[in-house]
Amino acid sequence: MTGGTIFKIKKYALHDGPGIRTTVFLKGCPLSCQWCHNPEGIDPRPQTMWRLTSTGKIDETVGTVIGVGDLIKEIEKDVLFYDESGGGATFSGGEPLSQPQFLEALLAACNRREIHTALDTSGYAPAAVIERMLPRLQLVLFDLKIMNADQHRHYTGVPNQTIVDNLKRVACSQTPLRIRIPLIPGITDGDDNLAAITRLAGTLKTVQGIDLLPYHRIGEEKYRRLGMTGSLTAPAPPLAERVAAIKNNFESAGFDVSIGG
Ligand code: SF4
Repeated sequence: MTGGTIFKIKKYALHDGPGIRTTVFLKGCPLSCQWCHNPEGIDPRPQTMWRLTSTGKIDETVGTVIGVGDLIKEIEKDVLFYDESGGGATFSGGEPLSQPQFLEALLAACNRREIHTALDTSGYAPAAVIERMLPRLQLVLFDLKIMNADQHRHYTGVPNQTIVDNLKRVACSQTPLRIRIPLIPGITDGDDNLAAITRLAGTLKTVQGIDLLPYHRIGEEKYRRLGMTGSLTAPAPPLAERVAAIKNNFESAGFDVSIGG
């Protein structure tokens, strides 16, 4: 039986695509973004994360190996909510494309049950993997972070050419697309970077909108609990005025814009 490794199932999610959704977080990501708020999604294997309880620190395992059938049973439990709200299942991570056989089997199972499918991706994957998934998807939420190649490599650990090429590839398909931009103060939210994203997005005919994802500090604590290093030295979240101005700029360029997905 096909299976894979996940680290979270979020029920009744409202910001990972249309309607009420179940979001499944697959473990493993080839990027190492310094601001990652899901650092437990980077390592593909289950790992230990401590938690403080009333009796002291306890170790917990983050990451579960699960079969497609069992996971689909979990997703199917809320099919009434999906039907009522126009929702469905979203596959996120980590980078869900880093477990292509597992993801493809999940998408196929959802397709058979007519459950709407969305993929939340960094776009960093072989072209052939993206191509294989596209016919099984009703929505792609595509993260676009930094347009400058050197800066992208510095802050995420990988070059951005594959990501830009895959974004264009998705935009040439029939699958609806939203671009998601994490707003990391001083890193991704500069005028030059956002202008470059606006120019690129303007050339892609199937972009339905832009989701702005303001940085928050939820991930910082997790790095310590996982014994990981490498997180950003705590920039403050972006000011509401700055986020509003960025939203306004994208709207002026003709995009539907949401804050927070
Ligand atoms: S792509 Fe997403 S999951 Fe992967 S390291 Fe970056 S923020 Fe974290």
